[in-house]
Amino acid sequence: MTHPNTLESKSGHDSSRGSSVSIAPQTQSRIFERDELPYRVQRIRRRTPTIVEVWLAPVAASMPYLPGEYVLLEDRDQRVEQRSYSIANAQRSDDQISLLVTRIQGGQASDWIHERLRAGDEVILTGPYGTFVADPASSAPCLYLAGGSGLAPMRALLEAALQSSAQRSLTLISWLGPKPTCLTGSCSSAGRLRIRTSGSSAR
Ligand SMILES: Cc1cc2nc3c(=O)[nH]c(=O)nc-3n(C[C@H](O)[C@H](O)[C@H](O)COP(=O)(O)OP(=O)(O)OC[C@H]3O[C@@H](n4cnc5c(N)ncnc54)[C@H](O)[C@@H]3O)c2cc1C
Repeated sequence: MTHPNTLESKSGHDSSRGSSVSIAPQTQSRIFERDELPYRVQRIRRRTPTIVEVWLAPVAASMPYLPGEYVLLEDRDQRVEQRSYSIANAQRSDDQISLLVTRIQGGQASDWIHERLRAGDEVILTGPYGTFVADPASSAPCLYLAGGSGLAPMRALLEAALQSSAQRSLTLISWLGPKPTCLTGSCSSAGRLRIRTSGSSAR
């Protein structure tokens, strides 16, 4: 099943969902390296009245990706249309992937994710896709702007930037989205990250 998202997304990121950082030219060479892999839902947490966070673990092989990239998600039986979702975390040692999904009124996939998807369910991820990734050679200060679930790719990029040794100033301005709690611990106390949020944030 193919959604217009799929076609749109192959040529780049949906720029209306955030703005950011320089594009890394080396990602072009990865463009055809895509996997279609089963993942299992570990947990689903409501993060705002309209956004849930879905944590997925690989059933077998995991998908390598760069922070800022996105995946196509569909149910195992292909009863729900495949949709694009940005990966909301930098790569972890347990290979889990987080997605932030906004419920769209009358939306097929987002309704299904909010209403029917449960821990233990298996989904299929295809990807990674996208060119909205950071230039690893850059040490310039960086400003990340995100609205709603547009926080997802920003959070992945920020986590990766905070894990790197480069001493750069990082600022996140986020509105109407979840509190970026995973970024507010020891990382922010390192003094490199400033976070401003507004709107109806809820954990
Ligand atoms: C690169 C990329 C990354 C993305 N990342 C994220 C992300 O991290 N988080 C996130 O939440 N979303 C993300 N999206 C958006 C996501 O892919 C979906 O578009 C979104 O979840 C809505 O899908 P849906 O199936 O719920 O809605 P759809 O079923 O596609 O419906 C969307 C809207 O159209 C209306 N509609 C549908 N069919 C008709 C019709 N025949 N006539 C009139 N109206 C109709 C629906 O009522 C609804 O309001 C991303 C999109 C792209 C392209």
